[in-house]
Amino acid sequence: MNRPRILITTSTGQTGDLRRFDAVTGRNYSEGVLACGGLPLMVASLDPAAAPEFAAAADGVLFSGGVDVHPRHYGQEPVRDLGRVDAGRDAFELALYRAARERGLPILGICRGEQLINVAEGGTLHQHIHEGISTLDHSQDAGDGEPHHTVRLEEGSILARAFSAAAVTVNSYHHQAVDRPGASLRVTARSADGLAEAVEGTEGAWLLGVQWHPEMSFRQHEQQLAPFRAFLDAVNRARLQPA
Ligand code: MN
Repeated sequence: MNRPRILITTSTGQTGDLRRFDAVTGRNYSEGVLACGGLPLMVASLDPAAAPEFAAAADGVLFSGGVDVHPRHYGQEPVRDLGRVDAGRDAFELALYRAARERGLPILGICRGEQLINVAEGGTLHQHIHEGISTLDHSQDAGDGEPHHTVRLEEGSILARAFSAAAVTVNSYHHQAVDRPGASLRVTARSADGLAEAVEGTEGAWLLGVQWHPEMSFRQHEQQLAPFRAFLDAVNRARLQPA
């Protein structure tokens, strides 16, 4: 069988002074997918009406990292420390998420992607992790992706099985986090200060979101391929047993 097609969502950026907007994301997401047998296909944040056709052309979807989801999507006003937002990306990704879920596609979310999953499922976010919420450093200074803080993995979860461990050390580049999980989600990893670091689906197709960046770490720390490997395993199972 040919490689399963994995859509990877992207950020919108303006580079240089050319009158254009670029659809960009880290190449390391694609490298992680390719290393685990998938065919990575980056997709721009286009007209949300096209999302169902993109979902129909994919075997799985990876929601990548990036700017904050606008809090209007979880019924809140923006607080002072909210970061940058991208209305077009929110609209496209929320439509793509719904379309992918309807088709029963496995979904992996990373950082913003994990938060997007939670918002799409009706949950809320901490708009900014201030000291009243968390005492640990979730925004490490070094940009090298090196593991920074530990997370405890819930017994029997996708993550505990994928890592074959009850705890793992992960990097941390987030100023937001899942607050109230969506109705069909459970939190399966927490940092030592109790912050949610991963969500998994409790019904429907395979669904995992991680708050850290395994794509930044797996070259130096091979165990961080585990989320990608588990995702591609789920994609291959779903292809053998279409919904
Ligand atoms: Mn963290």
